[in-house]
Amino acid sequence: MLCLLCSCGKKNVEVVRPAFSSDSAYVYIEKQMSFGPRVPNSAAHMQCAVWLIEQLRAFGAEVELQKGEMPDYKGSNQQIYNIIGHFSTPSTATRSRVLLGAHYDTRPWCDEEEEYSERFYNVPGANDGASGVGVLLEIARQLGRQIADSTFKTPVDIIFFDVEDSGSPRFYTGAEREDTWCLGSQLWATNYARTFTEATQNTVIQYRYGIVLDMVGAPDATFPREMYSTNYAANYQQQIWRAAQRLGYGALFSDQQSYPITDDHYYVNRIAGIPCVDVIHYDTRNATGFPWWWHTRQDNMDNISKATLQAVGEVVMSQL
Ligand SMILES: [Zn+2]
Repeated sequence: MLCLLCSCGKKNVEVVRPAFSSDSAYVYIEKQMSFGPRVPNSAAHMQCAVWLIEQLRAFGAEVELQKGEMPDYKGSNQQIYNIIGHFSTPSTATRSRVLLGAHYDTRPWCDEEEEYSERFYNVPGANDGASGVGVLLEIARQLGRQIADSTFKTPVDIIFFDVEDSGSPRFYTGAEREDTWCLGSQLWATNYARTFTEATQNTVIQYRYGIVLDMVGAPDATFPREMYSTNYAANYQQQIWRAAQRLGYGALFSDQQSYPITDDHYYVNRIAGIPCVDVIHYDTRNATGFPWWWHTRQDNMDNISKATLQAVGEVVMSQL
């Protein structure tokens, strides 16, 4: 390759763009939306879970379904189905792994709607749920291709967390329970930590670090540096944001620091002790800190942009 000197005196460095198709990620989001809202205990949720398992298997993952129960905001038992796809090859099986996560459930209530009557609809969840899963499914497809053409380097576990978004609704007047969000990742992290502690040999999976994607599809998205990620996993956050800058996505992955956000990564950090970074759409223009369509009926395909999916997909792929 010819290296040219530009007027500022810096060498033009060719950016190597990782393989990732936002067309494909977009289709995976549409497919999830076609089931209807993926509210826990609904038929749509179960149909989506079955489809996710089939997809991961088709891309060459060894799939594990982790079932369990956790108390919901009222203290009732909530069934949880976490879906885990292990990607590795015989030559990479003993290397430490990268965890990639996104929640596949959607919120049962649009409790950020202004009209009271609108608050009892399910959130459609194109961004809040389906976007992170869509990007990870396309990454899973790319990993399958890497395995097929022997370019696969980094063993990866893709985890579709369940029941992230059923935390206490705003209209609930009962006593607030702590930790009513992210039930799937709490279950996963607790069991992972226990298995890890009980293991005597290197027989248990070792994770180097993790990345969680949440609301990663909006045309006007911004991903500031989320505070828990900075506190628990500063090096990895820096590495990911630098990669984004190199790929030309510095405006999207901004250097702005956000408040700490309780998302699945928090429990992966706090309970499992695995450094984990959240890539989440945060918008300081709104009082909630989140995008205007967040937890409303407008969280639909109109607010999904292939350009944003492409950026997020390339940045994550650059880490594998
Ligand atoms: Zn949500």
